[in-house]
Amino acid sequence: MALQELIKPFMDYFAHRRESLTRLLESEAVDAFLITNPINVTYLTGFSGDSSYLILSKTRAILVSDARYTEQIGEECPGLEVHIRPHDQSIQKVATDLLDKLGFHRVGFESGQLSVADLETLVGLVPRIAWKPGRDRVESLRLVKDASEVAQIREAITIAEKAFAMFRAMLRPSDSEKDLSDDMEWYVRRAGGRSTSFRTIVAVGERAALPHAPPTSRSVGNAELLLVDWGAVGRFYNCDLTRVFADRRISPKLEQVYGVVLRAQQKALGAIRPGVKARDVDAEARAVIGEAGFGQFFGHGLGHGIGLQIHEAPAIRQNSDAVLQAGMVFTIEPGAYLPGWGGVRIEDDVLVTPDGFEILTHVPKEPILRIGEW
Ligand code: ZN
Ligand code: ZN
Repeated sequence: MALQELIKPFMDYFAHRRESLTRLLESEAVDAFLITNPINVTYLTGFSGDSSYLILSKTRAILVSDARYTEQIGEECPGLEVHIRPHDQSIQKVATDLLDKLGFHRVGFESGQLSVADLETLVGLVPRIAWKPGRDRVESLRLVKDASEVAQIREAITIAEKAFAMFRAMLRPSDSEKDLSDDMEWYVRRAGGRSTSFRTIVAVGERAALPHAPPTSRSVGNAELLLVDWGAVGRFYNCDLTRVFADRRISPKLEQVYGVVLRAQQKALGAIRPGVKARDVDAEARAVIGEAGFGQFFGHGLGHGIGLQIHEAPAIRQNSDAVLQAGMVFTIEPGAYLPGWGGVRIEDDVLVTPDGFEILTHVPKEPILRIGEW
């Protein structure tokens, strides 16, 4: 067998994802799906632009787009059928006409994504099309990452970790939270990222008691601790990390809280394997923090899936129904936030493997990082 033939199944991830989706056509009794969420269009085609719909049937996959993207689609989605709409016609009009022309009159739409107004437009255009709502069809596929996605998450992590090395090297006591947050954007881009995954959280001292502290003009000074929560987007995929720095002298309080949060994370990590309920992983961490007397200060879920979006399924929290499967990638980020004092969160990204888990992030967390050690 020629090499090309051997590697083909590994190369065409997008076709494979579309195939997984078309398997749902029959059970939903529809002729085609209309994919309107740009993130899901990217997942199914590799196209990085927006304002485009994907029509997907058993035998056809057609990207409906406009002339701005003709060349880009050729580069990003070689071999994909494309329908470029005339600039004086709306995407809804062109997509419904195409569905009608192809004889697709029972169409599944993304009810979690399409606005009520857009649906009204679609319904009014070709009355003989019956629209069938469906939630999370593509999102359910995105729950379990394929090898190409895991590789891209690893790439995003490499970028975020390079950026963090620059951040650490450049960190000065005179820097404000906002300076440091802005600097991280530059470091991530400099390290090859498209952008940070979200506005970097830099929280000094007692401001770290706010789990999602917006950066202020407060400077590092001689604060007891500094919390940094950051992530990078590679080409498409996100990552998410949190580390805490201590001043040269670590107070007994910080040592205690940090130790509890670290133990909680280790306990939760140890519970990760396929078949385990996400809520049970959350419970492991919550028990450690609760036993230490900080239960009321851990007010968020233990983690969230990462991928094309920074927050996606599965949710790793108390009320989650998710059951872990090999290929899921999510954060494990226990925390303890003590009003008036500060907070500690330690966040790593984890891949569920067939027999356990792999921590994808590598920035050291033991012992606690020190401000001024470079
Ligand atoms: Zn984070
Ligand atoms: Zn997170």
